[in-house]
Amino acid sequence: MSGKRTVIGMDVGATNIRSARVDATGTLLARDRRPTCADQGRDTVVEHIVGSIHAVSDDTVEAVGIGVPGPLDPDTGIVYAPPNMTGWGDEPLRDLVAYKIGKRVALENDANAWGLGEAWLGAGRDRSSLILLTLGTGIGGCLVLGGRPWHGAHNVGCEIGHIVYDPDGVPCGCGSRGCLEQYASATGIARRAAEGIEGGAKTTLRVEGLTSASVHEAAVAGDAFAREIIEETGRILGVGLTTLCNFFDPELIVVGGGAAAAGEMLFDPMRAELAARAIQMPAGLPPIVPPQLGEDAGILGAARLVME
Ligand SMILES: [Zn+2]
Repeated sequence: MSGKRTVIGMDVGATNIRSARVDATGTLLARDRRPTCADQGRDTVVEHIVGSIHAVSDDTVEAVGIGVPGPLDPDTGIVYAPPNMTGWGDEPLRDLVAYKIGKRVALENDANAWGLGEAWLGAGRDRSSLILLTLGTGIGGCLVLGGRPWHGAHNVGCEIGHIVYDPDGVPCGCGSRGCLEQYASATGIARRAAEGIEGGAKTTLRVEGLTSASVHEAAVAGDAFAREIIEETGRILGVGLTTLCNFFDPELIVVGGGAAAAGEMLFDPMRAELAARAIQMPAGLPPIVPPQLGEDAGILGAARLVME
């Protein structure tokens, strides 16, 4: 992409659609944000996507990149019944949008778009590979190699949250047991804390309304039980990251999402566990860092998709 040509990057979440017109350097030239209305069905969501594109578009726009909650096939542009989009089956989302706007459209899984944005202009700029983890309701993630997200042969690569942590552990929605996200996602943190409280742990926390954020808050306020839950989460993630590092040897690990707000209290035990377990060269292990682009990572990564 050269000269005054621009693209549109869009992040379609379960709650909001956010988009921007972006130039070749990654400068955001115009922005739009509107509700997704995921509960009103596919046609309404497509209408809002197209409305958001028109809101930021001008005659310099060449193409549109869209990050959406997976699963999807980036080659065919089909989204496979995303769980947080009410009433969606397998939908040819890319072609539905391209037909309405008359421009080239590319789709990417939202975690891949986020990772691509961080790899391009955020924590991973000047690095050739990174692994990104997002600690939310589940654990999402991606692997970016040479500026491209890794999809795998069947577009189910990088399901980092379903690395097995405990073979006989908690059943997971994927059909396996003891997956990493059952323990170290925001949901997993709250569940482990609730179990501890019910088991009689000495803490200011209460089971009612318990979230990973309230566990973090209590830990910061000096609650030893809450602090141990956060540190244990770091150790659990360090075990999962050992598998990834031994296999991929990435240059950088970026850990974001709501539960990563615990910061160094979470990252330090993660680093210690990784150092104790992973195979190391003299150059050491990849740094574990927070993301740098905030909400714009998904928009920038989606824009990056359609720049070549
Ligand atoms: Zn699983």
